[in-house]
Amino acid sequence: MIKRILVTGGAGFLGSHLCDRLVERGEDVICVDNFFTSQKSNIEHLLDRPNFELIRHDVTHPVFLEVDQIYNLACPAAPGHYQFNPIKTTKTSVMGAINVLGLAKRVGAKILHASTSEVYGDPDVHPQPESYRGNVNPIGPRACYDEGKRAAETLMFDYRRQNRVNIAVVRIFNTYGPRMHPYDGRVVSNFIRQALVGEEITIYGDGLQSRSFCYVDDLIDGIMSMMAVPEEFPGPVNLGNPNEFTIRQLAEQVVELSGSSSTIVTARPLPEDDPTQRQPDIGLARERLGWEPRIELREGLARTIEWFRRIDVSNFRAPTPNF
Ligand code: NAD
Ligand code: UDP
Repeated sequence: MIKRILVTGGAGFLGSHLCDRLVERGEDVICVDNFFTSQKSNIEHLLDRPNFELIRHDVTHPVFLEVDQIYNLACPAAPGHYQFNPIKTTKTSVMGAINVLGLAKRVGAKILHASTSEVYGDPDVHPQPESYRGNVNPIGPRACYDEGKRAAETLMFDYRRQNRVNIAVVRIFNTYGPRMHPYDGRVVSNFIRQALVGEEITIYGDGLQSRSFCYVDDLIDGIMSMMAVPEEFPGPVNLGNPNEFTIRQLAEQVVELSGSSSTIVTARPLPEDDPTQRQPDIGLARERLGWEPRIELREGLARTIEWFRRIDVSNFRAPTPNF
């Protein structure tokens, strides 16, 4: 049976890919977004589809809809975006969660919440399993995002305990792919944009800090598998690619795959509270969802570079000066 599905943050990088998949499956999709970090071009191709609807709305205000499922993705995700207006970031996480949970409670919808590996902070356990409680600085520049996301998880589990709302929490690790905002300041978009115009590739710190990069198609498979679990399984579940790379290795791969003449430079010190390592333990996702990523970094980067070659970056407005 066709389901009515709300995707908050549906015009963003991950949200627009999710909307694509849900529209293709024939679901009745409502995308809610305030376009803080995205633009209509991400979902332009969906606007004339009869089973897609766009509502410009800020999730810090309640929204009244009748839906069967909710994917809650609305939140700036890149450090330069979420640190631009940190109070708004916390509001979006916390008040956004309260509003969509209230909606889920009223209409009996299942809600999937996009949490993050940032709930682990700068981890001293490696790789990070879901049972690890994290090492987050509650007063640092990343706290608006990290603590906002942690509070949103708390709300999810309290609405489950108190109001029996059917929740599914996924902790997403660094994900990349086509439709990343070219000026979001994240490492993959920065390096590719720089490589394609022959600018210096800007490594922060010594480049030995690591991340594990998941290609967007794999991640969307994981999110949809989590929503589809028939029994009550709230998670949280890590979703990410466990193959870990240093930022320097990433820079080298981007230069090689793009055929760029850019030089790699150590441009500035590591930002405050920048995690030194990050790698998901995806044992739980393998066991409960039968999910694991399939696309290797080289393949995913090649596809992402192709997309960046095709777009005209002058059509993109930098959402904040922080890139
Ligand atoms: P994105 O910035 O591309 O998308 C976020 C979307 O939410 C944007 O379209 C933005 O305009 C919208 N938005 C922001 N504040 C809003 C508000 N108050 N009301 C309505 N809409 C609002 O980022 P993304 O990478 O697609 O991330 C999507 C979700 O996944 C976020 O919740 C993020 O925290 C989470 N996540 C992403 C990653 C990743 O690597 N991409 C990693 C961990 C978690
Ligand atoms: N980074 C970098 N150069 C850039 C952008 C980012 O070296 O131009 C580093 C950043 O300091 C961090 C890593 O790349 O160590 C990943 O940064 P990103 O902002 O993509 O995401 P994070 O995982 O830190 O949220």
